[in-house]
Amino acid sequence: MTGKQFVADKVATVGSSGIRRIFDLASTMTDPIDMSMGQPDFDTPEPIKQAAIEAIQQGRNGYTVTHGLPELRTKIASRLREEFDWEAALFVTSGLSGGLVLTMMACLNPGDEVLIGDPYFVSYPHLINLFGGKPVMVDLYDDLGLHPERFEAAVTDQTKMILLNSPTNPTGVVASKQDMRAMAKLADKHDLLLVSDEIYNLMSYDGPSPSPVAYAPERTLLLRGFGKSYGITGWRMGYAAGPSAIISEMAKLQQYTFVCAPHMAQYACITALDTDISEQIDNYRHKRDLVVSALAGTFEFVKPTGGFYIFPKIPPRFENSTALVETAIKNNVLVIPGNVFSRRDTHFRASYALPDDKLLEGCETLCSIAK
Ligand code: PMP
Repeated sequence: MTGKQFVADKVATVGSSGIRRIFDLASTMTDPIDMSMGQPDFDTPEPIKQAAIEAIQQGRNGYTVTHGLPELRTKIASRLREEFDWEAALFVTSGLSGGLVLTMMACLNPGDEVLIGDPYFVSYPHLINLFGGKPVMVDLYDDLGLHPERFEAAVTDQTKMILLNSPTNPTGVVASKQDMRAMAKLADKHDLLLVSDEIYNLMSYDGPSPSPVAYAPERTLLLRGFGKSYGITGWRMGYAAGPSAIISEMAKLQQYTFVCAPHMAQYACITALDTDISEQIDNYRHKRDLVVSALAGTFEFVKPTGGFYIFPKIPPRFENSTALVETAIKNNVLVIPGNVFSRRDTHFRASYALPDDKLLEGCETLCSIAK
């Protein structure tokens, strides 16, 4: 060994220290009530499983074209036409994360600023930094709504993109139509690209989650995923749709990186798009109601309306979110400290994607340690 530093400097900007300590502590738990999960607890619907099995047995095990199976793309295109009357270029990605990576790779020049609401999905700032951009956090506390006026105040000559996420991870908040329309107006006024992460779009419990596609179809890059809605997070399936100049560059880069999304999973997602998941959504609405009524009175929080997370404020007896999480772990409940998703350290994230009895037990423990 020469003593040369083989790891790239920019990787050092990807922080993991806070969450690593939590995971170290969590690894000592034997049968925890795990409220840290970012995936649904329901089983993959049978027809989707069968389609994947059939695909493998039929020998659909090689590469597909980079853009994805034509039959799947045609179906996605017709769904986008129905939903938005939108004719957009599109291609199939390896999970929504694949779409996010390619977005940043294809769009960011050094120093380009990307506005993101804080709290934000944990990968956003890291991906923006890795590809040379600058994440600019827009504080959304205390009501955790979208606040277009705060985004506008953060726009500079370097701003290129606003990264939106409704329903939101970690807060469970769904944006209002008015705010989404205002964001589209703002993007028009300042000539910005709207990137819309809609991984939870089907998991919206009190009405649909608005998309900027409806208000700014020409300047929206839509990223969606199949993993959360159909219980197939490990199959790594998503798609990107939007301006053809961007989509063609992203697809070009996919050819040199991911190559294609998994073939059998693409095939099964044709079936997924025809699978009714209203029962699963009803069940998640019910879980949302359970968690809200179990934590109300003890914790302060904004009622979640989508996804499967709740983001309560830490009660006064704890100095910060890590202190709360450490106590929860000692009491066999795993939740995530809010500073993983925010510059603030005042909240924590709990997932309600677990069986009702476990969920209620977890909430009881959280309430008992709060007092
Ligand atoms: N965006 C958000 C907001 C998420 O919560 C997640 C998954 N936790 C992703 C993107 C990544 O999705 P995928 O598994 O499809 O890459």
